[in-house]
Amino acid sequence: MIGAIEAGGTKMVCAVSDEDLNIKARTRISTENPQDTMREMLAFFGEYELDGLGVGAFGPIGVNPQRSDYGFIGQTPKEGWSGFDLLGALQKEIKCPIYLTTDVNVAAYGELKRGSAQNLQNAVYLTVGTGIGGGVIHDGAIYVGDTHPELGHIMVKRAQNELNGFDGVCPYHDGCLEGMASGPSIGARAGVKANTLAEDDPLWDIEADYLAQAAMSYTLSFAPQRIIFGGGVSNQSQIFPKMRKRFAEYLNNYVQVPNLDEYLVHAALGDDAGITGALLLAAEVAR
Ligand code: ADP
Ligand code: ZN
Repeated sequence: MIGAIEAGGTKMVCAVSDEDLNIKARTRISTENPQDTMREMLAFFGEYELDGLGVGAFGPIGVNPQRSDYGFIGQTPKEGWSGFDLLGALQKEIKCPIYLTTDVNVAAYGELKRGSAQNLQNAVYLTVGTGIGGGVIHDGAIYVGDTHPELGHIMVKRAQNELNGFDGVCPYHDGCLEGMASGPSIGARAGVKANTLAEDDPLWDIEADYLAQAAMSYTLSFAPQRIIFGGGVSNQSQIFPKMRKRFAEYLNNYVQVPNLDEYLVHAALGDDAGITGALLLAAEVAR
């Protein structure tokens, strides 16, 4: 048996499956303080003998095994979790190989193996929801730097028809992608939640412009074969043709990319991407 954890700020999704990813048990545990949350998660996994565990966690989190902060949660507003040794707490009780990375990296891996990037070696996955985060697949594996990339906080230039004075909702940066294009940024301009906005609202043109700028930066930085968009906001399918058009204008044929209908695409696995990727990684590290 193999196990997976998608550790989020509001809930922990835990699953156990066989090596073919047939899920045997799955549970959601609400994310409270680390002690109570860990106790519940360990009780769930305690019922099974695991051969491997894959973990995708909210960040910032140490993802580089060469560093002393590997598996530790970084500075976070989530009460009690700053500096928590997540990997250590799991290793103490679960005696099997563990692969740990970010939530967005496991989703990227799920899309690579079972979703929109199957049979590719190089891809970028971006989730556009409450925040914006991304994972890079390089040579068929999750790219790990000294820490994990933060693709959501790259700077973008002001989109056409952007509101005067709107610098975005990121508390750290004026004018970063997450500040300008996350779900809450759309809500902040519209005064209503992004998911209730009309399909033809002009804000979707602005959204598409920012995502096109981001896609151009990822294209130039990583030369992927495909860029995949997940998260709640990317369910607005009208964004995609707009984004492809703006992308082509911005890139101006500077580098060759595949046909844009196949290059800038929607994620295929939805909410299952994370658990799928974490189980696949668990199977890879399983003894
Ligand atoms: P998470 O909190 O895990 O990021 P989501 O990816 O669903 O969850 O992102 C939530 C954000 O995305 C909210 O700001 C919400 O308004 C927005 N959102 C969710 N679904 C949609 C949708 N179908 N269309 C537009 N915006 C959406
Ligand atoms: Zn930012």
